[in-house]
Amino acid sequence: MSNKIILKPNRDKPVRQKHPWIFSGAIERIDSASSDGDLVDVLTSQGEFLARGYLNRRSQIAVRLLTWLESEAVDEGFWARRLALAASWRVMGAHEARRLVNAESDGLPGLVVDRYGEWLIVQALTLGIDGLKPIITQQLNALLRPRGIYERSDVDVREKEGLAQASGRLAGDEPPDRVEIEEGGYRYLVDVKRGHKTGFYLDQRENRKKIQAYVANAEVLNLFAYTGGFAVAALSADAKSVVSVDSSADVLQLAQENVRLNGLPARAGDFVEADVFSYVRKLRAEKRTFDVIIADPPKLAQSQGQIEKAARAYKDLNLVAMQLLRPGGYLITFSCSGLVTPDLFQKIVFGAAVDAGRDAQIVERLSQSSDHPVLLSFPESEYLKGLVCRVC
Ligand code: SAH
Repeated sequence: MSNKIILKPNRDKPVRQKHPWIFSGAIERIDSASSDGDLVDVLTSQGEFLARGYLNRRSQIAVRLLTWLESEAVDEGFWARRLALAASWRVMGAHEARRLVNAESDGLPGLVVDRYGEWLIVQALTLGIDGLKPIITQQLNALLRPRGIYERSDVDVREKEGLAQASGRLAGDEPPDRVEIEEGGYRYLVDVKRGHKTGFYLDQRENRKKIQAYVANAEVLNLFAYTGGFAVAALSADAKSVVSVDSSADVLQLAQENVRLNGLPARAGDFVEADVFSYVRKLRAEKRTFDVIIADPPKLAQSQGQIEKAARAYKDLNLVAMQLLRPGGYLITFSCSGLVTPDLFQKIVFGAAVDAGRDAQIVERLSQSSDHPVLLSFPESEYLKGLVCRVC
């Protein structure tokens, strides 16, 4: 018998519509026998079964739901089936990289699994998943036979779950400091043990290909360059030059190596360690201009209260970027803040164009790659959006 939680009256609708979160405010009563991390059945105020998930009273998201079928047991077979289903439709070559499990969007709340060739990198974002690491590791080994499974749960969100950060080997061999992957015919070195996220911005994979349509013969400014994903993509699509800017010297070092690895020109002066917000002003003061500017800043809005401040930063960045573009140039601009909706982002970019005194046309809309699917019942899973604007 599972422990039970009872919802307040009239709080059942989102659960019936399969939203995977139950906020603490919707809960009337929790069985006293249940511990955080345990499986619980969620019932209406009338006692009707709605769904089953795992509990954590410490989090505002008190329950994350796993199944809406009363007859479906959440046992080893359940995890095996969910993992197999998520992996089954990600078609990839032996040396490629993909997100295999995108948490809630794959029916596995709190769990991220990324595959880099023969290595699997796992993030356990919640207490419920953290306790299941041994089972998940065992099932991933049986399903995919990786050379090694490595954990990268060194993320701030674990604090909200009462968890410390954790990283290290979970099974098999420990990955090397640099794992080489192949993407779209290019090679990239990925620092899976210390890099951002699980090492690479897999969510931008399809966009790295798409930007190639805009860069032939162009002088490109690549803002927030990280390890050079867009730099390699642009240079190999015949960009005349790419200046990559990032505040971290370490990532720029890897960016330069990635450009070289693909036999592309990597001049030291094309990798600039600087704060982007001040660097673009410096370029403007020097009257420098570019044909294409890519801007992919980090998540600027972490909470509802930060949206306004983030909007100002996005506007400021895009405004100066537009002023640096030659007539007919392209601004390829992103926001990965889930709280900034596509509609709001477009308004921000519009405001930037107005203040920059430039006309702009949207020629393409971009989003997160298809291995980061958006669950219709969970619109929060959509976070990355981009606009390709032709600026006149
Ligand atoms: N475009 C990259 C991902 C960018 S992630 C890709 O596709 O791989 C954001 C990057 O911005 C990180 O590398 C981080 O080091 C850098 N960054 C964050 N704040 C910055 C700032 N104020 N100025 C310059 N770089 C910054």
